[in-house]
Amino acid sequence: MKYPYNFFRDISFSTPILTSMKEKPTSKPYQFPKKGEGAFRAYQKISNELTLDGNVQLDLGSFSTTSMNPLADKLITEQLGKNFIDYNEYGQTKKIHDRIIGMLSGLLHAADPNNPTGTSTLGSSEAIHLALLSHKWNWKKRRESFGLSASKPNIVYSGNAHVCWDKFALYFDVEPRKIPQTSHDSYPIEEILKSIDQNTICVGAIAGNTYTGSIDPIEKLNDEIIRLNKKHNWDVGIHVDAAIGGFVFPFIKKEVKTWDFRLPLVRSINLSGHKYGLVYPGIGWLIFREAAVLPKELIFTSHYLEKPIETYTLNFSKGASMILAQYFSILQHGKQGYEKTIRDYCKTADVIRKRLRLSGHFETIDEGILPVIVFRLKDVKEDMLTALLLHLRSKNWMLPAYQIPGISKKETLLRIVVKENISPELAQLFCDDLIYSYETLKND
Ligand SMILES: *Cc1c(COP(=O)(O)O)cnc(C)c1O
Repeated sequence: MKYPYNFFRDISFSTPILTSMKEKPTSKPYQFPKKGEGAFRAYQKISNELTLDGNVQLDLGSFSTTSMNPLADKLITEQLGKNFIDYNEYGQTKKIHDRIIGMLSGLLHAADPNNPTGTSTLGSSEAIHLALLSHKWNWKKRRESFGLSASKPNIVYSGNAHVCWDKFALYFDVEPRKIPQTSHDSYPIEEILKSIDQNTICVGAIAGNTYTGSIDPIEKLNDEIIRLNKKHNWDVGIHVDAAIGGFVFPFIKKEVKTWDFRLPLVRSINLSGHKYGLVYPGIGWLIFREAAVLPKELIFTSHYLEKPIETYTLNFSKGASMILAQYFSILQHGKQGYEKTIRDYCKTADVIRKRLRLSGHFETIDEGILPVIVFRLKDVKEDMLTALLLHLRSKNWMLPAYQIPGISKKETLLRIVVKENISPELAQLFCDDLIYSYETLKND
């Protein structure tokens, strides 16, 4: 197979976590410059360098929003300098924030939407960490109230959960009971139920899976855990990771089984505003079923300036812009707008699915509820896949290939996330390129 091998390095997707010093440049990029170059040159230099990045509009795998209405951009720019934590100075922004918490609580059927409990976060990861920390505290308090040891907390979730669940377990010293799956479409409910015990702080369930677009059987999980709790006098609840589905399922209710606070054991839910919440990266939401789920001890009061400020976040300062952008999106679209948007994306996704299947080369494996197409090559050859991705990359398309972690059957999947950057026309062009590239390589 003929392809420019050097090129491959650039698409190997391996990002060093800590800044690597391996680079041997002619200038000294790691040295704090002695003299400034002035705004114009600085801008030009950075903006030139960034042309080497991939084109966000052609990133097929990413869930995060790439563009908003120009009026949203205007609002964001006007509010860029505002620090959200300064509640006393920016009281109106805080009120808007709380309104969003109320609206989302209502949307997800929280116990008392007029008295909502929740917070904005930087994304779903922070929201999940905070939610699970609350569950850990509640579990600990309950154990201690019975005079029992609270030294070995565990958390139970399925193998195809997002990696931020593993991160929580690591950072917050909780044993991860990550239940392996045999294939992408098998949910290990029996093993999950068997892994729950008196030290389980909560069970994780996913509404909109990152790797497959599926929804866990949350209703069944709820019923079975109720039974376990009764039998053993436990108080295990569920946290629903709705990073992807949180801004989708409430608007297309008919197609989806009950998954939110209508189920009594669902105690907290996270959503990514920057995914189908239609806001740029940097915004997530954590909503609690009711105030009692958030332990009072974790509400942090700071007397930094003037009046005390109460927060439940991992950060202190943060920009107010994306919170305001979320409010903009909600007011701009309303329920009907969110529904129309998602239905339009689903139509485009259906067109892509059909073309992939008709080509005879690909097999789609997603359930088709979300506008997310998960597929694989019928004729599985790793070097063919590598060449295909490279071919597409040379046309500027970024298509992710991945294996689902925590699944014993190893298979490489590809994912296309339909959102505002993928118009029906662009989708057709992509399918043309994909099918053409595949056929060219196959006949090579
Ligand atoms: C994206 C995602 C996360 C992490 O969310 P961020 O907003 O990127 O922090 C967690 N869970 C699921 C299911 C996701 O898709």
